[in-house]
Amino acid sequence: MDHFDVVVLGSGAAALAAAVAASGHGAETIGVFEKATVIGGTSAMSGGMIWIPGNHHMKNKQLNDSREMALEYLGSLSHGRMRTDLLEAYVDVGPTMVQWFENNSEVVFEIVENFPDYHPENPGGNQTGGRSLECPLFPFDELGEWANRISQSRQMSPFLLMNETTLGRGPLDTAPKEVLKLRSEKNLRGCGQALIGRLVKSCLDRQIVIETEHQADELIIEQNNLRGVRFNTPSGIRDVKTQSVIIATGGFEWNKNLVNNFVRGPLQRPVSIETNTGDGLKMAMRAGAALGNMQEAWWVPVIDITNDEGATIPWMVNRERVNPRCIMVNKSGKRFANEAANYNAFGAAFHQLDPGTFEYQNIPAWMIFDQEYLVRFGLCRFRGEGQIPDWLTSASTLAELADLIGCDGVGLEETVECWNAQAADLDDGDFHRGKSVNDIHWGDGTKTIAATLGPIDKPPYYAVEVRPGALGTKGGPQTNANAQILDVDGEVIKGLYAAGNVMASAMGMAYGGAGGTLGPCMVFGFIAGKHSAEELFQK
Ligand SMILES: Cc1cc2nc3c(=O)[nH]c(=O)nc-3n(C[C@H](O)[C@H](O)[C@H](O)COP(=O)(O)OP(=O)(O)OC[C@H]3O[C@@H](n4cnc5c(N)ncnc54)[C@H](O)[C@@H]3O)c2cc1C
Repeated sequence: MDHFDVVVLGSGAAALAAAVAASGHGAETIGVFEKATVIGGTSAMSGGMIWIPGNHHMKNKQLNDSREMALEYLGSLSHGRMRTDLLEAYVDVGPTMVQWFENNSEVVFEIVENFPDYHPENPGGNQTGGRSLECPLFPFDELGEWANRISQSRQMSPFLLMNETTLGRGPLDTAPKEVLKLRSEKNLRGCGQALIGRLVKSCLDRQIVIETEHQADELIIEQNNLRGVRFNTPSGIRDVKTQSVIIATGGFEWNKNLVNNFVRGPLQRPVSIETNTGDGLKMAMRAGAALGNMQEAWWVPVIDITNDEGATIPWMVNRERVNPRCIMVNKSGKRFANEAANYNAFGAAFHQLDPGTFEYQNIPAWMIFDQEYLVRFGLCRFRGEGQIPDWLTSASTLAELADLIGCDGVGLEETVECWNAQAADLDDGDFHRGKSVNDIHWGDGTKTIAATLGPIDKPPYYAVEVRPGALGTKGGPQTNANAQILDVDGEVIKGLYAAGNVMASAMGMAYGGAGGTLGPCMVFGFIAGKHSAEELFQK
């Protein structure tokens, strides 16, 4: 049987950060074991931003931040569901983690300029940017055979930096064509590809073993002592020996049974990698772990589109629903929230139950917009020219549109009339859309309240159903501030760690800012790797 000082399960940001940190703190043999045929998990498909308050890049640019501000901000989002010890660990170790990777690995960061927090007006919130970081472009050719074995997004170009996208509020919708062509020739990648590419390179430089098609199935525990891990592989069962296991297998969003039993409301469209089926959670449960935050996910509104091959693809509508000339309505034809609000917070709007009818009030829901919206912004690469795609409904009047989708026509007409008046007054008296710096940032780039307010008055009109989706779940084994998994009595299960979306998130229900999920992945991955390595010297 092979032996490793530290075994890491999964190969997303949490896992790879843990592996590099374990190596950097003295562990000599480290194995990263991935269930899928590719490495990188959801992390490589992502925007790659990490949210780290008080990072040294902010200090270098004299951007104001402090431990107290960060804790006050997170506290304002807690509703009593965040643990102070984990929050303090996150805020205290975050800047150290950034500095450590920059000094000891290929992973370096820069600020995604001007990206405000998701609730920037809350106490301690940041309105001017600096807490959200991303990696510079990384040449994938340096990864050798691994360059083609990393997961990729269906929604994002691999060759862009977040700073260049409208999401990162860059000046351009995309980099110029010739720049993209050059990057594609040189295989220079940004966003989540850059983060994972840099982490993988750091693993390879440190001779960390990476295996794919290794589904961790069982922790080998003898007389209460962790002895190893059992994997399912294409060539049969493989056991490896270790006394340190870091579980970083992502959430359980693709496991219908676990979702139905634990998550607080409908989660119709996961957008993560499909191998995140809760294996790590089940292994931790079998080892006696206490669970926490199981009802929560990183919520995101999603529409279904069809690609050129006819396959249905879940598409996150984070920026799209914020643009002017677009609202969201429920089956009564009524708006139900500030459409520009943070995507995670939108989960709460989808989960609102009508106590009388006992129906979800805002499922189904639709984005409603007009022709000018399509011409100005397009939707999922459709710009209103040629044949209307089958996932979009169109009609020349609002009443007809309502009829086609099955919502109340009178309600929709009244709502749009009211909305158009509010847009003309630049004042959404119902839901205060555009009042937050967050709303304006995610709007059309014009940097005033009009960035998100605009009438819906140029037919034809369009509708597309919006569903409650998630980037991943955020409940799992509870840990202490060292990322060690705790049992149901609050005692450490020796040798067992969790990091990333598999763990009971330090963030409770909230999503602090851009990078709010990968930030904790990197911080708790770093903590787990470092602690597991340091424990080796105690033995
Ligand atoms: C399009 C998109 C953009 C996003 N942008 C951002 C962003 O900019 N910033 C941000 O903070 N968040 C972002 N997110 C969310 C973020 O990507 C995830 O929350 C994060 O990647 C989770 O990381 P993880 O390491 O916990 O899990 P993952 O990256 O999903 O990795 C888990 C890995 O574990 C593997 N695994 C599962 N079971 C087993 C098993 N039994 N044995 C071995 N391996 C196993 C999986 O195959 C997977 O590779 C985005 C998500 C998407 C989809």
